[in-house]
Amino acid sequence: MAYCNEAFIELQGAYLFAEIRNRIDAYKKLHSNTNIISLGIGDVTQPLAPVVIKAMQKAVFEMGNIETFRGYGPEQGYSFLREAIVNGDFKSRGIDLEPSEIFVSDGAKCDVGNMQDIFAESSLVAVTDPVYPVYVDSNVMAGRGGKFVNGNYQRIIYMPCYEECAFKPSLPIHDPQIIYLCSPNNPTGSVFTHKDLTMWVKYAQQTGSVIFFDAAYEAFITDKDLPHSIYEIEGAKEVAIEFRSYSKSAGFTGVRCGYCVVPHALMLETQSGEKISANELWNRRQCTKFNGCSYIVQRGAEALYTEEGKAQVQATINIYRENAHMILEGLMEVGLTSSGGKNSPYIWVTVPEGMTSWEFFDLLLQQAGVVCTPGAGFGPCGAGYIRLTAFNTPENTQEAVQRLKKLLKKGES
Ligand SMILES: *Cc1c(COP(=O)(O)O)cnc(C)c1O
Repeated sequence: MAYCNEAFIELQGAYLFAEIRNRIDAYKKLHSNTNIISLGIGDVTQPLAPVVIKAMQKAVFEMGNIETFRGYGPEQGYSFLREAIVNGDFKSRGIDLEPSEIFVSDGAKCDVGNMQDIFAESSLVAVTDPVYPVYVDSNVMAGRGGKFVNGNYQRIIYMPCYEECAFKPSLPIHDPQIIYLCSPNNPTGSVFTHKDLTMWVKYAQQTGSVIFFDAAYEAFITDKDLPHSIYEIEGAKEVAIEFRSYSKSAGFTGVRCGYCVVPHALMLETQSGEKISANELWNRRQCTKFNGCSYIVQRGAEALYTEEGKAQVQATINIYRENAHMILEGLMEVGLTSSGGKNSPYIWVTVPEGMTSWEFFDLLLQQAGVVCTPGAGFGPCGAGYIRLTAFNTPENTQEAVQRLKKLLKKGES
């Protein structure tokens, strides 16, 4: 008999989305003709930009021709895309990176989940509460979680995010080696300012910790003054790894492409005190366990950096932005407190006094046919909140907002 990796036994199941599904199914069984609208999804609805389709079609034809066929590509990504990234996402914002610091992948979830591979098993990990569950579960699988007690893993350091602090975390209660930050944030929609990020970079420098900066929603930032990349902060290259994704910005959730930045300046240490390049370790890890993102997909991603591509992507993001605006207005009209939705596709809503997030979920589902995501699923601090997303179609979003307004009109609920 083979023994299992017992770290997996500590995982808390995919409770959140399974439970949401169960409640929707139970409701549908009783009300077969109700049209349910989901403002809970973390998936996009708008199709790919025409430039992407054109680029991928061209790449498909290349693959069918002996002269232009390509087999295995570089594990790190093709240089045409790595260069487009360096110029389009960073140089344009005054950040100098080399293509060799960019690692193209099949999405940010894998990178965010795998990056901890190059860190010692003994590393202490700090996450926010509420949190994107991948950060926690990938570390639990690697044996860094400890026992699960009262909604928290005992070896993970949680940084609570309170409404009173605009849902931004304060420094951890003891020094971790790895810190996960996500801005614009999933689920709360909060965004770090330059000042916030400067504090985190200083803290990481002082304590020798490494920041995993998840910028999957960077494209949703509208305020001119907000940082899009952690490398806008001086000294961040020595302490931070950044994760990016084309999923939410360009509708690549089903196409699969993202990348991470592992700067040459980022050094880790061996037990005996030698310095070792994180970039080299990650490169070694990827070359061993990953064989590259498909050529066709990388050509599609490259097309996003053309003028035409940028304009088409912006048009789609504007659709989601208007959805977010509609939701925010609706919530305001019924007197519910919410945040996010301005530089983020997520809106974090305070549930009415005296209700839990699951009770509010049930009310919206049963009385309005609208699905949300209960905040409790993202951690104990999410308990009094629900998350709404701007990713549905404008028609569905409008209809959902009408139903919410009808149900929750001030003083009538
Ligand atoms: C959606 C999302 C990602 C990106 O996932 P992909 O694997 O690139 O589709 C990363 N981080 C967060 C917080 C997300 O919500």
